[in-house]
Amino acid sequence: MDERMIRRLIETAAAQRKYSYAPYSGYRVGAALLARNGTVFTGCNIENAAYGPSMCAERTAIFKAVSEGVHEFEAICVVGGLEESPSGYSVPCGVCRQVMTEFCEPAFPIIVAKDADHYELYTLQDLLPKSFGPDNLRRNTEE
Ligand code: ZN
Repeated sequence: MDERMIRRLIETAAAQRKYSYAPYSGYRVGAALLARNGTVFTGCNIENAAYGPSMCAERTAIFKAVSEGVHEFEAICVVGGLEESPSGYSVPCGVCRQVMTEFCEPAFPIIVAKDADHYELYTLQDLLPKSFGPDNLRRNTEE
């Protein structure tokens, strides 16, 4: 993944934080999901007074893409934090990692950034090793 694309995804994810609906935690997250077809799907976190129905930025972006028939992804970037300019890295939660496992290869790049000059790069395999995924439910048809 080239630096120019990483920078574009970071800037897009950071810009999405302005749409974050986080009246309870104040933790504002934006995500930018690069699809294999070149489209960048965006997401923000959306909280709820009942807490349970809250949604993460990463899953918002993934579900937006899937709801439009797009299932193949190249990378995702997440920018989040309590401050206007995040002081730390907002790594995807376990539920988001599991959702990524449904659609993405183990080598899927996950960029977590404070800003365009400060980011960390992981793979899905790094963040969710030994995951349960679609292969577990595939019947062996070679017998
Ligand atoms: Zn999450």
